[in-house]
Amino acid sequence: MNELAVTHARGRPVPPPTDRLAALESAFATHGWTPGPTPTTTAPGSGGGPPALTGAEADRLAEVAAELRPIFTGAPGTLNQLLVRHGAVPNLHGDPPILAFHAPGADLVDAWAADAGTALAMVIGVGQGLRLRTCEAGGCELVFFDVTRNASRRFCGLSCQNRAKASAYRARRRA
Ligand SMILES: [Zn+2]
Repeated sequence: MNELAVTHARGRPVPPPTDRLAALESAFATHGWTPGPTPTTTAPGSGGGPPALTGAEADRLAEVAAELRPIFTGAPGTLNQLLVRHGAVPNLHGDPPILAFHAPGADLVDAWAADAGTALAMVIGVGQGLRLRTCEAGGCELVFFDVTRNASRRFCGLSCQNRAKASAYRARRRA
């Protein structure tokens, strides 16, 4: 989501991804997400690896990310409709089976939307929705899941925390 729906991160404008496909594929790899063992589209010669993303899929993923983002700002958004639209359904994939939340034949976009949407719904559904946060630092739109014990995290990472501290210090000195 951070790769798709922000214009500023850590105090800097995010350049429009010139190679969004590569950025997405690396984000999926970083987060260990693949649509499962039943990809509907396999690029010729890809040797059964993860399905190759297309530009159209990247555009649709960006739309899904934009739709999911309000959930991190405390707005429930349209999560239920999103889950229905992308066919979210718990079911077992593969052998040994893993639990996924997209239908076996789902395309990559539906699969990601269903899995990500379900994950957010589970967080909200167990009363932990306040842990879905946006970074409070100026010039940063990154979202994160706050795993601190008392749900007190305010920034996406150390660089934003340090920047915010420094600017608060400057503001106090000016006052
Ligand atoms: Zn930040």
